[in-house]
Amino acid sequence: MTTRLEKAKALLKEGNYKIIDDNTIQVKDYKVSLNSCTCIDHRIRKLNCKHILMFQLLKQEQLQSVNYMKLDDPIQFEHKYGIRTLAYLKSVGDVFEIHNQLKWT
Ligand SMILES: [Zn+2]
Repeated sequence: MTTRLEKAKALLKEGNYKIIDDNTIQVKDYKVSLNSCTCIDHRIRKLNCKHILMFQLLKQEQLQSVNYMKLDDPIQFEHKYGIRTLAYLKSVGDVFEIHNQLKWT
């Protein structure tokens, strides 16, 4: 038997959802927030359905992805560790540059 959480993870992986705003997404024909959903499962049982769980998982992922370490400006980093190190870190996606600051993902 597949648990609701496993179904939610599978849904997230499929990526068949549309972000409407910070608090709302659309999964198939359902409008989903962090505590409500228009699907029958949620309306009847009043519990978190797989769509709500999926949205919660998505939110967790988003929080983790902004959890970066701030560094000095790229020029200083380059002087210290070399342009190759910087280029390598960027190529593997560990670091990206924005507004003249390096962010670690
Ligand atoms: Zn639902």
